[in-house]
Amino acid sequence: MAELSERMRAYVQPHLANIEPYDPNFTPCRINLSANENTYPVPEGVREAVDAALAATALNRYPDPMSEELRCELAAWHGVDPACVCVGNGGDELLFNFLLAFGGRGRTLLNCPPTFSEYEFFAQLTSTDVRNVARDRKTLAVDERATLAAASRVDLAILTSPNNPTGDVASSSFVAQLCRAVDGPVMVDEAYIEFAEAGADKQALLASCPNLVILHTLSKAFGAAGIRCGYVIAAPDMIEVFSAVRQIYSVNVLTQAAALAMVRRRDAFTPVVEQIRAERARIVRALEVDERLQIWEGQGNFLLVRVPSASEIRSRLRDEYSILVRDFSYMPGLADCLRITVGTPEENDELLAALAVLINEEA
Ligand SMILES: *Cc1c(COP(=O)(O)O)cnc(C)c1O
Repeated sequence: MAELSERMRAYVQPHLANIEPYDPNFTPCRINLSANENTYPVPEGVREAVDAALAATALNRYPDPMSEELRCELAAWHGVDPACVCVGNGGDELLFNFLLAFGGRGRTLLNCPPTFSEYEFFAQLTSTDVRNVARDRKTLAVDERATLAAASRVDLAILTSPNNPTGDVASSSFVAQLCRAVDGPVMVDEAYIEFAEAGADKQALLASCPNLVILHTLSKAFGAAGIRCGYVIAAPDMIEVFSAVRQIYSVNVLTQAAALAMVRRRDAFTPVVEQIRAERARIVRALEVDERLQIWEGQGNFLLVRVPSASEIRSRLRDEYSILVRDFSYMPGLADCLRITVGTPEENDELLAALAVLINEEA
């Protein structure tokens, strides 16, 4: 594992001394099902609209700091006031700013692992303590009682719904209880919400939970991970905090233009999302006949599979088939677990065929 040089360990802030430099050791693969990206072709007409919007965008002017046009379009879509929306350079920037503004030294974040590892990373960067309440060892569901019991002693909380990598959706009653129990902001990360059943989103709770923040991204359902665009929906005074701490020009003009063109054509993505859900179910049906596997289907564009010799299978998928999936074996609670992004039907066929061979040889 990479670490900082001796000299840099002395230079950086003490709490950053053990931080790991980004490891560019990435194997390009023919079929990449490792990052929950949308691998489907862009819906008809959308790419043309994006290209036209980009071509019409002046590059000499600084971006509109609050992405006003995009913000209004997102607000209209979600049926909220534009003052309830803040756009960011990917969901990650908004997550970082959430920790920056509401966490920090002497503050504690409530976290329910196994979940998205960026939360703990951003907590580390901002010197925020983390109170981890582990999910159930068997089901990987949130331990609601233990989480609520810990909630009164934390300053902020993040809950992921659908969770990455387990795919489960939090219930509205639990989120409402959590919002009441935490004396501080509660973020529900809905990066995958478009893939979940209707009604799974927690936006309706905003009216009764003024400390609730909902995180969205264009990286997953919209297939736009490359443009880096995410947004939060929250009470206007909460949004003022996000707008105050952000780097003023973090969302560049090209991103604003492309995102606006895509969000305006959001209906074109519905069939893609439906196909991904259907493919997810198809992969599960193909895998669940094998009793050696344990599968968490969940409601994202991915599934989690526990399979004997997961790390070997993951390496051989990469090296022999040029198929990349994500190995979560290293994560506490996820021994022998692989996360597989749902790809196109052709990609999924290849994955299933390769898995059938490798599981028989390794498991
Ligand atoms: C992908 C993802 C995000 C946001 O990703 P960005 O590309 O930074 O918008 C946020 N939360 C979870 C759980 C994710 O998986």
